[in-house]
Amino acid sequence: MSFQNPVFIPGPTNIPEVLRKACDMPTIDHRSPLFGQILHPARDGVRQVLKSDAAEVFIFPSTGTGGWETALTNCLSAGDKVLAARNGMFSHRWIDMCQRHGLDVEVVETPWGDGLPADRYAEILAADNAHQIKAVLATHNETATGVRSDIGAVRRALDAAGHPALLFVDGVSSIGSMDFRFDEWGVDVAVTGSQKGFMLPAGLAILGFSARAMEATKTATLPCTFFDVHDMAKGYANNAYPYTPAVGLLNGLNLSCAMLLAEGLENVFARHHRIAEGVRAAVAAWGLDLCATAPELYSDTVSAIRTPKGFDATRIVTHAAETYGVAFGVGLGEVAGKVFRIGHLGSLTDVMALSGIATAEMCMADLGLDITLGSGVAAAQDYYRSNPARTMKAAA
Ligand SMILES: *Cc1c(COP(=O)(O)O)cnc(C)c1O
Repeated sequence: MSFQNPVFIPGPTNIPEVLRKACDMPTIDHRSPLFGQILHPARDGVRQVLKSDAAEVFIFPSTGTGGWETALTNCLSAGDKVLAARNGMFSHRWIDMCQRHGLDVEVVETPWGDGLPADRYAEILAADNAHQIKAVLATHNETATGVRSDIGAVRRALDAAGHPALLFVDGVSSIGSMDFRFDEWGVDVAVTGSQKGFMLPAGLAILGFSARAMEATKTATLPCTFFDVHDMAKGYANNAYPYTPAVGLLNGLNLSCAMLLAEGLENVFARHHRIAEGVRAAVAAWGLDLCATAPELYSDTVSAIRTPKGFDATRIVTHAAETYGVAFGVGLGEVAGKVFRIGHLGSLTDVMALSGIATAEMCMADLGLDITLGSGVAAAQDYYRSNPARTMKAAA
């Protein structure tokens, strides 16, 4: 008997059985054409998930954080100016990485719970006549606050100013779960990892580079070795890596992309939206607020839920783990103790979501919050019953 419950953290996600098996494979020669039969389809699959025709896809043995470093160190030089908003823990950590690399970050402080201030970006870019800003950073989905930002609006801000800065987008908790349009939004570097929308174990940093980003790599001087995309591109040309690739994870990624594309990206996004709407119906029934300040910001992959003033939200997470063997996400940074997070991305069904909602209710009632057992579950059930799933394929 396994007592494994689904996890409700916003990554790593639950792993479909077929993907676990795909990652578990015998050793092959990672400099052989056989390896190329895994690597190249995986890169093609990622390109399609990014909605790009021509992005150069690079996959490093690393995590999303290594993806940030790949973007910065390949495209920028010490002292370069970059523009970034801080509206949560992940945007904060990317800014911190820029500063540690000697970049000059213009930080737009933004309330946690708000989206990227594209209008402020537009003003700052329009005022930068000398084009000193070399890159604009954007966190598509701020996982700490459950806020989705409008990347198209950031692109429009750049275009309206006629500004040539590169657009770097952290899509770690959105790509493969929420609509992401690399080509349409004019993204120059997109960053993600294997353990969120791709439903795999952690271990891969996954990136798309535009032609302009590749051009920028030729003059950038920040040091990079392990994350050098030119070394990587040379390796790929020979069905290889500059070092030992994570073959099992790449095999999993190849299959993960095939699964997402077979379901249909729009169906994948609709599934995430539907499940998220059920969770949000439950939160409303509990009389609680989301950290995200407006409906257009609501994330379809994670909900950060504010608990009543004076109550330490982290207790819900600790109690759920100790009493029910269920994992929720804690609040991070500025919202530590103020929110708990329900992750609803990756391999998840409405039925699984209902179990998470029911568990959150038990925890809140156990800890003395004024919650009627079944209230959130009933609200989510109502939503799921009146909004049937668009696709109902045999669970993988
Ligand atoms: C998870 C996450 C990261 C960090 O990724 P790691 O794989 O843990 O390094 C970065 N940005 C966002 C938005 C995330 O959700």
